[in-house]
Amino acid sequence: MKTAFLGLGIMGYPMAGHLSKQFETLVWNRTTTKAESHNIEYSTKTISNFNDLSSVDVLFTCFPTSKEVIELAPKILEVAKAGLVWVDCTSGDPASARALNRMLEERGMFYLDAPVSGGVAGAINGKLTVMVGGDESSLERVKNVIESFAAKIVHCGPSGAGMAVKAANQALLGVNILALSEVLLGLEKAGVRTSTALDVINASSGRSNVSMNLFPERVVGRGFPATFALGLMAKDVRIASQALREARVPSPITSLTENLLEIALRELGPDVDHVAASQLLERWAGTELGIEG
Ligand code: NDP
Repeated sequence: MKTAFLGLGIMGYPMAGHLSKQFETLVWNRTTTKAESHNIEYSTKTISNFNDLSSVDVLFTCFPTSKEVIELAPKILEVAKAGLVWVDCTSGDPASARALNRMLEERGMFYLDAPVSGGVAGAINGKLTVMVGGDESSLERVKNVIESFAAKIVHCGPSGAGMAVKAANQALLGVNILALSEVLLGLEKAGVRTSTALDVINASSGRSNVSMNLFPERVVGRGFPATFALGLMAKDVRIASQALREARVPSPITSLTENLLEIALRELGPDVDHVAASQLLERWAGTELGIEG
C-alpha cells in the first residue's frame, strides 16, 4: 500500500508522520523546507513532481480550505491511477466535497471528505476523530490506513456529510467560546474570579471542552498558543452558517456567532489562536478575564 500526504501544516505534519510509520509515504508541501524536515524526521520522501503520485493507492490532503484542494485537483487527477482513494482531511465545505467526489467518480477513483477533530495534541498523539462522508465501502478499504492517526472514525453519510458535521462541531465551539466569555466577564464585574467561576462551572451542567480545557489554559493562563487559527475557525462557522441557510433552518445563534467571529477577525487578525476571540468581548466589556491579583 503506497500513500501520499499533501499539506504538512500544523495538523498534516504529525498526521503524515504517523502514516509513514506504517506505510510507504510520499509528501508534498508548498513551502518545501517543511517537507525536507519531514523527510529527515520520518524518513518520508518528497515528490519531485506530481507524476510521482501515479503509483499511490491512498492520497491524503490537509489544506486550509476546499479552495486549495480544488486548485491542486487537476494536477493530481491528471496522473493518479484508477482505484485511488483520496482522503481529504481539510475542514472544507460540503458543496466542494460533492464536486470533487463527482470528478473522481468520473475517473474511476474515490473521494472521501474526512475532516478531523482533536487539535494539534490529537494529531501529535495519533488520536484524532475522523468524520467521513462518501462511499462507505471505500472507507472500509482504507480504514486501517486512516487508523494510523485516528482513535475514532465515523462514517457520517453521503459525500459532503463529513464536512457538514465538522462545520457544525466548529459552530458549537464558537458558540461556547463567545458565550463563556460573556458570562465570565459578567461574573468578574460582580467580583467572582474567572478561575473560581470555572471551578464551579466545570463541576456543573454548564461545562464544556471550552470551559474544562481551553479557558483554564488559554484565558486564565493568558497563553493563547496559536494551535488553531482564528481565521480557520471563522471559516468553519461560515460554512456551518451557509449550510443552515441552504437547509432553510432558522439559525440565529450560528449567524450571530458567524458575525461576531468576523468582527473578531477584523480586530485581532486571522493568525491569533481561536480562543483569543474572547478578547473581543473583553474589549467591549472594558476588562480582562483571568487577571488574578
Ligand atoms: P496550517 O495553516 O498549519 O497548514 C496549512 C497547510 O496548507 C500548510 O501545509 C500550507 O503550506 C498549506 N497551504 C496553505 N495555502 C496553500 C496554497 N494556496 N497552496 C498550497 N498549499 C497551501 O493549518 P492547520 O494544519 O491548522 O489546518 C489544516 C486544516 O485542518 C484546516 O482546514 C483546519 O481548519 C483543520 N483543522 C485544524 C486543527 C488545528 O487545531 N489546527 C484541528 C482540526 C482541523 P505552507 O506550509 O506552505 O504554508
